[in-house]
Amino acid sequence: MTEIDYGKVTGMVHSTESFGSVDGPGVRFVIFMQGCKMRCQYCHNPDTWAMETNKSRERTVDDVLEEALRYRHYWGKNGGITVSGGEAMLQIDFVTALFTKAKAMGIHCTLDTCGFSFRDTPEYHEVVDKLLAVTDLVLLDLKEINPKQHIVVTRQPNTNILAFARYLSDKGVPVWIRHVLVPGLTDFDEDLIELGKFVATLKNVDKFEILPYHTLGEFKWRELGIPYTLEGVKPPTKERVQNAKELMHTESYTEYMKRIHQ
Ligand code: SF4
Repeated sequence: MTEIDYGKVTGMVHSTESFGSVDGPGVRFVIFMQGCKMRCQYCHNPDTWAMETNKSRERTVDDVLEEALRYRHYWGKNGGITVSGGEAMLQIDFVTALFTKAKAMGIHCTLDTCGFSFRDTPEYHEVVDKLLAVTDLVLLDLKEINPKQHIVVTRQPNTNILAFARYLSDKGVPVWIRHVLVPGLTDFDEDLIELGKFVATLKNVDKFEILPYHTLGEFKWRELGIPYTLEGVKPPTKERVQNAKELMHTESYTEYMKRIHQ
């Protein structure tokens, strides 16, 4: 059988960031992949939605890795590389190839995903298992637990996303779960409670956090000529963030999980 030359595998890359500080532990080199099939109302990267644009570039794994390695001495013990998007798992062959090469060099690899591409089938499991075998950490966004509201928020169902969360739990892949809190859209008490209960059933969650909605990406929607449906919506107040933390048990999460699983 011919060996795959992982370095030559190509992917459509939107952009890179040399010093990411919120996309996994430590300082990280972040690769933003092009393409996403969700349409989150609060997305701050709508320029990554199309599978290809005149700004995205087809790049090889070796080319991306060579750029990342220039920053290796900033990573310390905890840092590494993160592949984000867009939706990174739409280009799963590229991410698998990149992580396979990076892991062989001892680099910590984090996958930031919405999980929508996951399919609960033996064929897809075979593909995704290759990626998970070289993934140290998954940052998984759970945007809404309520199926109907999930469609309102993202225009897509959450079935595959929740299935992916369970799959990662069964496989024991470390996960950080994140929930973007948007007033009037993803901050309903009953949904937050249900989300907290769902997360508590997972056995692999190292961190569960709330990301308060911000408006920093709004200008991109304007630039692209897409109507911004959250016009006028303000970031959540401290009280609403605290309320969500309490309902989902994010602050005392470690203790809460110990209690649930003991
Ligand atoms: S999944 Fe991420 S990139 Fe895709 S629309 Fe939602 S926020 Fe934007």
